[in-house]
Amino acid sequence: MKRFSRLLCMFVSTTAIMGATSYSAQAEEFLVKDQKSFEEIVKELEPGDVVKLANGKWEDFEVLFTGAGEKDKPIRLTAETSGEVFLTGQSNLRIAGNYLEVSGLVFKDGYTPTSEVISFRQNSKNLANNSRVTEVVIDNYNQPERQEVDFWVMMYGKNNRFDHNHIVGKRNKGVTMAVRLNTEDSQENNHLIDHNYFGPRQILGSNGGETLRIGTSHYSRTDSLTVVENNYFDRCDGELEIISNKSGRNVFRNNTFFQSRGTLTMRHGNNNLVENNVFFGNGADHTGGIRVINAGQTIQNNYMEGLKGTRFGGAFVVMNGVPNGPINRYDPVKDAVIKNNSLINSDNVQFGAGSDEERTAVPSDSVFESNLIFNEDGRDVFTVYDDMSGIDFTKNVLGSMDPPDFTTGFSRARLKMERAENGLMYPQSEISAGVSRDLSVTQKNQTGVSWYPKAEPVIAFGSGETIAVTPEEGSLTSAVETAKAGDIISLSPGDYVVRKFLKIDKPLTFQAEGEVNLTFERTTLFEILNGGGLQIQGLNFSGKSAPDNAGNSVIRTSPYSMLENYRLEIMDTNFTEMNVNHSFNIISVSKGTFADNIAIRNSSFKDVTGAILKLDKETDDYGTYNAEYLTILNSDFESVQGSIVDYYRGGTDESTFGPHFNLKNSSLTNVGSGKRNKTDSSLYLQGVQVTNISNNTFDGVEPFLIKHTVGEPKTKIFKNTFKDTPAPVVVELNSGLEPTALITDNEGLNR
Ligand code: CA
Repeated sequence: MKRFSRLLCMFVSTTAIMGATSYSAQAEEFLVKDQKSFEEIVKELEPGDVVKLANGKWEDFEVLFTGAGEKDKPIRLTAETSGEVFLTGQSNLRIAGNYLEVSGLVFKDGYTPTSEVISFRQNSKNLANNSRVTEVVIDNYNQPERQEVDFWVMMYGKNNRFDHNHIVGKRNKGVTMAVRLNTEDSQENNHLIDHNYFGPRQILGSNGGETLRIGTSHYSRTDSLTVVENNYFDRCDGELEIISNKSGRNVFRNNTFFQSRGTLTMRHGNNNLVENNVFFGNGADHTGGIRVINAGQTIQNNYMEGLKGTRFGGAFVVMNGVPNGPINRYDPVKDAVIKNNSLINSDNVQFGAGSDEERTAVPSDSVFESNLIFNEDGRDVFTVYDDMSGIDFTKNVLGSMDPPDFTTGFSRARLKMERAENGLMYPQSEISAGVSRDLSVTQKNQTGVSWYPKAEPVIAFGSGETIAVTPEEGSLTSAVETAKAGDIISLSPGDYVVRKFLKIDKPLTFQAEGEVNLTFERTTLFEILNGGGLQIQGLNFSGKSAPDNAGNSVIRTSPYSMLENYRLEIMDTNFTEMNVNHSFNIISVSKGTFADNIAIRNSSFKDVTGAILKLDKETDDYGTYNAEYLTILNSDFESVQGSIVDYYRGGTDESTFGPHFNLKNSSLTNVGSGKRNKTDSSLYLQGVQVTNISNNTFDGVEPFLIKHTVGEPKTKIFKNTFKDTPAPVVVELNSGLEPTALITDNEGLNR
């Protein structure tokens, strides 16, 4: 009777025989066209049934997919056509029951109204088991506010599989995907996470940007038994942990990490296996490999090439631990087996990392065997922070590098390397160290889905068309409106007066074709909005027509939080007469905005009543900040009342690599002495992690004020000339250590 009642439903039902051997194996297929129909049919589904969502947009659809399928007869939820069913607006998916399978859906153009987009449970009592999510896309499905936390995929229950999914563009705070072990029903779970495409994740600029986390510190001494294999991590740059393993007996196998900042971190949990993974850093900043913590870890046959990460983010890092520490601290490394890994042209191999007054437990009962470490330039890549006698080093081979002096077990060999068909570098002559010849590298096109493009995350400046403009009124405004991402707005010579904000909501280049002078009549000229990016080449800006108000700026970001990181490049450009009133800044940013990169080259700044860059709006002290890289080269600053940069990252969080600051080949003359300059400095850096100030001239400039907070901030000030300028002031705010800044080889400094 039940089957009959189902046929009375208004759904399109096509009966199909699945598995002809069993009389009762009659399965049905339903095509639903609205949410209500879905909710009704779900209650009726029987093993083997398929419910399909009709092609098109499903807005604000909180899908609850429950049922009891059977082994080999799962109940399936899928799309009428894979890739043509879009869950938009405030949609999400919960799966609870047994033997359920979901496929073919795309989440985009919206965000979850709850804390999860896909959850393997209905609520804390009703979990999914033996269920699968495959060929599902989550694309830029972000909360509008970047500090609002959510998770895109949360696995609960047991024996679930998450495979061949395409997960790209998480921009707000929160781990992209996590496995939870919070009840017994989710522990020793045997989940399989395989063949997923974890596409680019931009720098978050705070903690909470991990791509995958398994467990939490609270349940970290519990076994998870999750297998993570054949996934592709493409530029997963969120924070310093790409993967944060926080439970026991997991397997990470045959994954490819392509140019991803951070490491596979064995943060908590024992007896995990990490093997056959491939890391390509491509020489990019902060690309790392594997960080080893805890007991019983096996790390074998992993390949790491071109990794430039430092400190905890190095290519290979073995940590010191806390003896008998609480569950949330670093447990000591014990019984580690580290063998047959290849580290090729990678910068940092660290032993005993983190050694300090608390982390005193050195590795014990461990082996480091038959690893191959090859660096073309012959540089010593080892850093040893403590006693490593608890590791038995044996049969390791070094190419063109002398054995380190802290131990034996390394031999130097003259190796010729060549790239094999699998894309990896091997010595021409057969040796027993390093990864096996048959290591098969997971390729991008073997992961995710075939029907959804793996698009590039950013559009390069100047990659589009050129739009020519002349100085008549409104020409720039209309050019900005019609331009597409990557276009170049080419300004013919003349004087331009801009009467409106130029709202930049895509990457655009403004390029002068000769002498181009711009004035503007609003409080700002360029406003970078979400999705925007700005490149300026060869223009002359004057602030003389700006309103007679305090606090003008030439460039500012949206006053609201911006999900998408932006880029700002200024070249061969002059700024003058920024002095109609006080506190006229060149660049002002808002809280909740983040620049991947700000670069100023060959430019000049004269008569400015405010600061050049105000990157100081993240004052909550949560470890957030406003820009990852700030680089100033070959530029001159004269008569600037504020500081050239006010760069602030507060708090004690250590999950980010930045901020970075570089000032080179530039001159500062009469900078920082305005009475409204609250920093009393010409350069204010707080919590900046990497600072290089070299080959500059400072003349009549207020002192630099540099405050080191957490991490091991690296500040170098060298080969500068100081005239009538006090020495830089460097303060260690939290560590209580001696100042660590390297201030050397400068002229005119009395220190
Ligand atoms: Ca983290």
